Amino acid sequence: MRTDTAPTISRHDYQPYPYRLPQVELVFDLDDVQSRVTSKLSFERVGAEGSPLVLNGEDLALESVVLNGRKLDAGDYQLNEETLTVFPTEAAITLEVVSLCKPAQNSTLMGLYVSGNNLFTQCEAEGFRRITWFPDRPDVMSRYRVTLRGDKARYPLLLSNGNLLESQDLPDGRHQAIWEDPHPKPSYLFALVAGDFSCREQAIQTASGRDALLQVYSDRGSEDKTEWALDSLARAVKWDETRFGLELDLDRFMVVAARDFNMGAMENKGLNVFNSSYVLADPDTATDASYHAIEGVIGHEYFHNWTGNRVTCRDWFQLSLKEGLTVFRDQEFSADMMAHGLTQGEAASARAVKRIDDVTALRTAQFPEDAGPMAHPIRPESYQEIGNFYTATVYEKGAEVIRMQHTLLGESGFRAGMDEYFRRHDGSAVTCDDFVNAMESVYIKQNPGKDLKVFRQWYSQAGTPRVKVELDYNAAAKSCRITLSQHCEPVGIEKLREPQSEKPPLLIPFALGLLDEHGNGISLKHEGKQLDTVVLELDTRRQTWEFGNIPSQPIPSLLRNFSAPVIVDYAYSTAQLALLAQHDSDPFARWEAGQELATRQLLKLVAAIQAKAPLDVDPEFIESWRAVLQDQQLTPAYRSRALTLPGEKILLEKTLPMDPAAVAGARRHLRETLGRELAPLWLEALHSADSGTSAPYSPNGLQAGLRSLKNLALAYLAAGNHPQATDLASRQYYEARNMTDRMGGLAALVNQQDASAGAQALQHFYEQWQHNPLVIDRWFTVQATAPSTRVSTVRTLMQHPAFTLRNPNRARSLIFQFCMNNLQGAHTSEGYEFWADQVIALNDMNPEIAARLARAFDNWSRYIPANREAIRQSYERIQQHPTLSRNVAEIVTKALK
Ligand code: ZN
Repeated sequence: MRTDTAPTISRHDYQPYPYRLPQVELVFDLDDVQSRVTSKLSFERVGAEGSPLVLNGEDLALESVVLNGRKLDAGDYQLNEETLTVFPTEAAITLEVVSLCKPAQNSTLMGLYVSGNNLFTQCEAEGFRRITWFPDRPDVMSRYRVTLRGDKARYPLLLSNGNLLESQDLPDGRHQAIWEDPHPKPSYLFALVAGDFSCREQAIQTASGRDALLQVYSDRGSEDKTEWALDSLARAVKWDETRFGLELDLDRFMVVAARDFNMGAMENKGLNVFNSSYVLADPDTATDASYHAIEGVIGHEYFHNWTGNRVTCRDWFQLSLKEGLTVFRDQEFSADMMAHGLTQGEAASARAVKRIDDVTALRTAQFPEDAGPMAHPIRPESYQEIGNFYTATVYEKGAEVIRMQHTLLGESGFRAGMDEYFRRHDGSAVTCDDFVNAMESVYIKQNPGKDLKVFRQWYSQAGTPRVKVELDYNAAAKSCRITLSQHCEPVGIEKLREPQSEKPPLLIPFALGLLDEHGNGISLKHEGKQLDTVVLELDTRRQTWEFGNIPSQPIPSLLRNFSAPVIVDYAYSTAQLALLAQHDSDPFARWEAGQELATRQLLKLVAAIQAKAPLDVDPEFIESWRAVLQDQQLTPAYRSRALTLPGEKILLEKTLPMDPAAVAGARRHLRETLGRELAPLWLEALHSADSGTSAPYSPNGLQAGLRSLKNLALAYLAAGNHPQATDLASRQYYEARNMTDRMGGLAALVNQQDASAGAQALQHFYEQWQHNPLVIDRWFTVQATAPSTRVSTVRTLMQHPAFTLRNPNRARSLIFQFCMNNLQGAHTSEGYEFWADQVIALNDMNPEIAARLARAFDNWSRYIPANREAIRQSYERIQQHPTLSRNVAEIVTKALK
């Protein structure tokens, strides 16, 4: 592998491929030890005469090359580690290449690999080159005809993209299937699956009356766990028709579950391959969170069929073109599903809960990324390894950038922009600019004289902008001036450059409301309309708006519904926050006010811990929590979010230098205090939520909300060392009728003081579920994240027969969970050493997974000195590893700069 030689690829260096490739024919002789791939590629030159034809390949053995019927000798082509180049003289070329690859030895899980007894492929971003020599770039789009041959007993099912043309038996117990995909596609959307599966299917009719078949394939014996995934798929198909007018364009749409998978899932045309954790669910083995994640990911991959597949990316710098947009679409899908069938008020609350969860995820993963050495714009400027850029920034911040366009254009304007996007680009490989151009064509019509020029900066700029708010109330004139100013600190590699002038301003849609001193909303006149919420379009460094008819000093409700991915600075008093937390009509902003109160309290405790001062909790803070806990107007789901303290990672980002032990200690202390002080109310919440969930299991918002509140109450009681906590947790654990309750009980037992009750439950759990890998992942995770868990515990768990580093879900469930989500256990010099050991072990096995783990402490330079030094040494040790993959090398180099 190549460390120092890895070139940096720049967005501005894009060159079109000099050949078109209308037709691809592939023949696979499948075998797990060694598969033979025969490809016949029909090229047409579009670039300069004499352009060499460069094909990518990786870990392949080349058997033969035939150019326009003539077999080439080794001297007729150029072959190196990464490319095969031929030098055609004609404009129309047929190239036949035969090569071999070794699926069983392929532990990278990119290209053709073995999982269980089955064969799978993963091609995005650059995995197709591990299958056959090919122009492996998204702007080369072709029609594929694929013949799969293999042993019939071993691989009774042979699947690929598109339509099954024919299947037949062959001599020696083999058989073959021929597939043809009518839609031209880039190589990254190719897929094949070979093996033995059971299938659940559903016939549907699309909006225009076409018949189609939806299928979900999974390991035999798991067919009773695919109903939710299939139903979710059917709902996703309907939703895309209704909300975006986009129909399924295939006769059949297949989803296949794989146990070994690097990511969540993959949108291969007509043949999605999924991490089994996003397919399999039943009440006994899946939590409410898993049900919702399955629905979201099923939706996500299905929505890619239009946003990603019908219109794809010109190059990988445009990744957010499909990912940001598709995450936005899956978020909207999930929100609509959660709000479905509810009253207006409940629906608003359900949507707010989804928004809170999405924003929490953004702040937990993306804000730190945007402040660290890997910070990049949603459209990166350069990379060494594209596999490292499937990031929270490209995905989640990318979705926020799409959401802002939705906010600026409104629902119908956004829909018009989407229609225009498909009218212009269906069937082609395009750029982020092309997308904004389509949206802008609508925006300009709506707002004569304005455009999205400033908005486009969101695609070029890294870092989380800060918006400072000033409010001036003029009592005599009864008017209020709101001034917004924006600023974005240099981040990542920007800091290494010469001190530069400030980054250009962005267009920030800033949603705002005003409340009077009783918490009632004040109607605002803006652009000729009376509104409760106005959206200010901040597009310069500093801007002021004035509102009239404001009877008294107002309290601002800022960035409602999180209208932009920014950090707001405003000097609220505690009393103002408490008022917002009780009365803001915007449920997101209301939640936010409570979180801000909690953050202030927690940061005070962090300071006290650092100063070795007594740890005092403000009584008013406890009262604000009590008020929410008692507010029966709020839905259980919303209340559970409002009563959850900001996560450790979100808090860490707000301390400088970062002090993981102090943050963990502060949070623990506050949980303990709240658990103790509000114990009777937690008990009451626990019991009333429990009786509310006696109906047959459903993952719907109401039931899931009750369970989430119940588990939260139990966790607080355990944190507060309530005398009944162990009994309550035991009862909930052993008597649970679904996995959400069972995990809530188990976590409470493992995290409370009586170690023997926890150990007993863990033992019981393992015996009960040892044959279900997804459930055993939960078993590892609950131990990995327990506050009492130390490196030695994790090393012992790695010796457990059920542990393996090769399965990404398993590696994530223990190693990643410990390193990334156990502040107390991982942030020690032993923890950092352990982490480096695992990065190195994974590096030689699965570079993509290794690189993700390598990012765990990449913000080390902001830690307190003791931790900083220990992390740096561990990074340096990784850097010395002789066979460092390009993936890990890029992360380590950037982290150490
Ligand atoms: Zn995606």
